[in-house]
Amino acid sequence: MDDQQRLRYSRHLLLNEFGEEAQERLLRASALVIGAGGLGSAALMYLASSGMGRITVCDGDKVELTNLQRQIVHRLESLGRPKARSAADTLATLNPDIRVEPLEERAGADRLAALVRGADVVLDCSDNFATRHALNRACVASRKPLVSGAGIRFDGQVTVFDLRQASSACYHCLFAEDAEAAEERCAVMGVFAPLVGIIGTFQAAEAIKLVAGIGESLSGRLLLFDALASRWHEVRFARDPHCAVCGERAAAA
Ligand SMILES: [Zn+2]
Repeated sequence: MDDQQRLRYSRHLLLNEFGEEAQERLLRASALVIGAGGLGSAALMYLASSGMGRITVCDGDKVELTNLQRQIVHRLESLGRPKARSAADTLATLNPDIRVEPLEERAGADRLAALVRGADVVLDCSDNFATRHALNRACVASRKPLVSGAGIRFDGQVTVFDLRQASSACYHCLFAEDAEAAEERCAVMGVFAPLVGIIGTFQAAEAIKLVAGIGESLSGRLLLFDALASRWHEVRFARDPHCAVCGERAAAA
């Protein structure tokens, strides 16, 4: 780190549990963020300001006026522009230390697999089950830690699947694919604006901890947040040995 970086990250360096080595690990690390909506906005801002060295942000949508209520990485002048590009432009004004690669596409299974292979940590900030399950498969295959978040109406949830560990559950262990019929997309549902900020910020915190190698992650614990009642609820979960996605891998490990 140079002098400017020591100043920029001084409040991390002052933390006994963080310090210079963790900051340097963070600066060398790369994060893949799928979705530059409400969750992605908050996550991206903190990943960038904290010094996540390389960030790939993938989103196929364009910025609309209805997004600005909660998708804080986008600006009024970005209306009509690709969200990935808009997010990258905002992050560039925040921290010139880091490299941000915007991908203006809705990545399918093969593309996600390739992107996940190049990342140290993956953040699922998407808004649909097809992407969530495809991203989970890619993370299981490459054994990459997956930080999963979701938020709708006043209800949020966040957890970590640390697939570097053979004992870790995956997204499919917790959420079966036949639940897709009940999908509720925030494209048509109400969303309390700060909810996605709270959950996305939580995702950034977990991602930073995972690559910096500090603290205890949310692996094996699902946090549920009720923003209307201001209550958090924690549910513990374990790997499903019969899981169609990670069962075989775990058995072979
Ligand atoms: Zn599984």
